[in-house]
Amino acid sequence: MSTPPAISINNVVKRYAPPKGADASEGKLALKGVSFDVPEGGIFGLLGPNGAGKSTLINILAGLVTKTSGSANIWGFDIDEQPRNAKRSIGIVPQEIVFDPFFTPYEVLQNQAGFYGIPEALRRSEELLAAVRLADKRNAYARTLSGGMKRRLLVAKAMVHSPPILVLDEPTAGVDVELRRQLWELVTELNREGVTVVLTTHYLEEAEELCDRIAIINHGELIANKPTKDLVGMAREKVVAVTVAGEISKAPSHETFSRCELTGEQTIEITYDKDKNTAGQVLGILQDQGFAIEDVTTREADLEDVFVQLTGAG
Ligand code: ADP
Ligand code: MG
Repeated sequence: MSTPPAISINNVVKRYAPPKGADASEGKLALKGVSFDVPEGGIFGLLGPNGAGKSTLINILAGLVTKTSGSANIWGFDIDEQPRNAKRSIGIVPQEIVFDPFFTPYEVLQNQAGFYGIPEALRRSEELLAAVRLADKRNAYARTLSGGMKRRLLVAKAMVHSPPILVLDEPTAGVDVELRRQLWELVTELNREGVTVVLTTHYLEEAEELCDRIAIINHGELIANKPTKDLVGMAREKVVAVTVAGEISKAPSHETFSRCELTGEQTIEITYDKDKNTAGQVLGILQDQGFAIEDVTTREADLEDVFVQLTGAG
């Protein structure tokens, strides 16, 4: 038995309005018929380079952008037919931080609860402030909060109506390492409590570490959608780093190497297709070319390598 998906996106197309006076076909085609499901209960990563269409898709789910065609449902509610129920089922942390600078964190949450029509007695403002570690900033003006605190306040704001799904759009862009770690702890904690999490990012490492499933979008098209470990496993390449005796005057080359890079006076990194060759063969070629090998390490390709393969970027 399988549970229904938390979010289902079917052939969603978005063409933005063209600049004034231009032909309709000149409007940017940001999504070219995207379909995928977000399973319930996990942390789902929507990856893609800047301009791929991630925010467009999130904003369609949030009801902030109207799609051109296709359909989507959130927690079983069609976003066109049951928009209120769909919106109540999702909490969205937008890419841009926008607050009225003269409200306090407490007021921001109370106002949001009011917006959802949550009666005073059922509001969770104090609890949420504590959860995002902002209890001591309860009465500070929002404008005096640091960037990281504002992000955390936005997470609390998105959770005011206790939605089963939390979506974070590029939550760590421009956030320092320590705050990023805090944010991930918070997200993992919410997920452990049962919240389905979707996050968009262009940091591959982050997605690899946090997400159990990853979809990749590029130029408005879905190019992958797999469990993280399968995606990483797709990397066909392996890298062998070699230290040789004596200075290297010229990088070795061979048809077996997909890349060869001098990384120091005595060190080279060679990338090869692990389905076709072994590290032993690579080392044999180097020895044949007269290199005396002193030390060797190998590493599997990571998500970054897969990404480069799939998008043809790099
Ligand atoms: P991402 O979030 O993946 O960086 P976006 O969804 O923001 O990508 O943008 C996708 C494409 O749509 C980009 O080419 C962007 O310039 C364009 N775009 C985004 N918003 C608008 C808009 N309001 N009007 C016209 N084009 C837009
Ligand atoms: Mg974006």
